[in-house]
Amino acid sequence: MDRLVEKQRNFFASDQTRPFAFRAQMLRRLREAIGATEQEILEALAADLGKSRVAGYTTEIGPCLAEITHALRNLRQWMKPRRVAGPRLFPLSRGRVVCEPLGVCLVVSPWNYPFNLTIAPLVASLAAGNCTVLKPSELSANTAQVISRMIGRYFDEAFVSVVCGGPDATEELLEQKFDHIFFTGGERVGRMVMQAAARHLTPVTLELGGKSPCIVTDDCDPAKTARRIAWGKFLNAGQTCVAPDYLLVQEPIREELTARIKACIQDFYGAEPRESPDYGRIINGHHFDRLLRLLQGQEVLFGGQTDREALYIGPTLLGAPPDEAPILREEIFGPLLPVLPFGHLSEAIDLVNRRPKPLALYVFGRSADRRQQILSKTSSGGVCINDTIVHLTAPSLPFGGVGASGFGRYHGKAGFDAVSNQRSVLHQTLLFDIPQRFPPSRERDLKMLRAMLK
Ligand code: NAD
Repeated sequence: MDRLVEKQRNFFASDQTRPFAFRAQMLRRLREAIGATEQEILEALAADLGKSRVAGYTTEIGPCLAEITHALRNLRQWMKPRRVAGPRLFPLSRGRVVCEPLGVCLVVSPWNYPFNLTIAPLVASLAAGNCTVLKPSELSANTAQVISRMIGRYFDEAFVSVVCGGPDATEELLEQKFDHIFFTGGERVGRMVMQAAARHLTPVTLELGGKSPCIVTDDCDPAKTARRIAWGKFLNAGQTCVAPDYLLVQEPIREELTARIKACIQDFYGAEPRESPDYGRIINGHHFDRLLRLLQGQEVLFGGQTDREALYIGPTLLGAPPDEAPILREEIFGPLLPVLPFGHLSEAIDLVNRRPKPLALYVFGRSADRRQQILSKTSSGGVCINDTIVHLTAPSLPFGGVGASGFGRYHGKAGFDAVSNQRSVLHQTLLFDIPQRFPPSRERDLKMLRAMLK
């Protein structure tokens, strides 16, 4: 690790990564690498998570290519120094903000979207002109291997390299001094990463998880609402950081919505979801057992089938659990969806606010007033109205958490900014000086200085 980081540090010091032409060339190279490796990536995603080819492409490969295209289209603009006014006291001075690369960045990623969550931060890092070490999750080992081979074939390790391994490898990497750490994963490891980063005063972006609520009011479009919720919840067998974690449904629509979600599950995955090529598997036995524990004692409204050997848990709807049940406390991160009724909107808002601030918040309903009430009385990293998950797919919308769901933003320019140093430069004029700024100070100058500084 010492040698690898040293090598990247030397490469960065050669200044080759700074010009626009180099950054654009590297982004195009990454696009070429992904194109040439597409089959291998899709096979690895199927082996790791039972992802279909369509899901693999639309949720993993496609978003990375879209990020690259967006960066290539906008990079020149992002890199342009931004002119700003100088201080009032020095009217002929000129200010500008210049984005410069930070240096050597570390990206640590999870297993649930193992390609996307490793490569999308890399796009930001390449665009910003940094060297990068990638540490994909050991739990999605097939995808980690493919990423490692792909990067090894297309990039010099002094510029981009991949370290495979589990917690030990991450801990060893965290001993090193990086210029930025981009971590996506759970809260527990997030804290460890931040602690390790503090030793070197390294800035971090923490993309964590949490319980993303989905509030459905009785004026929603029931058919579209059910379809979009069922899709967002059961995609990747619920192992999505922004999956709706629990539903809050206004009482008059609860029965109809539950029935419609059941029907959607059958439409999507057939009567036997285990046979469907579109329905994924739980990543490993540990997470399977964790989900089983959350399921224990709950009222099953639909689904509930489990098979440990096949790491299969069917799409499941649950009745309202008691407030203190672990399933309403811990992030579910699996295909279990509790349906909680509410009467007045304030009850739903209170329930959301009794939990840590989530990564995403979903609102389904037609009333702009109610929407506004929910938005103004809650907080979350992002919001998607009348749909689930798709807000992530717009590179122009910064993505990230707030409070316990993390901090820092990426996607598009937000990612570029996250791994750039926004350097402030003030260019002072040589034409004149305001004599009053220099000692000895005189009481009578105060009036003029006061007026100028106001
Ligand atoms: P995790 O925190 O267990 O692991 C993430 C990374 O940290 C992996 O690369 C892993 O190897 C490493 N790691 C694990 N234990 C470690 C340790 N003890 N010391 C050092 N490194 C360690 O997370 P996960 O289980 O891979 O992913 C699930 C979590 O990630 C969920 O909470 C989910 O919400 C969150 N997530 C967030 C986003 C987002 O964009 N905000 C996206 C996907 C997942």
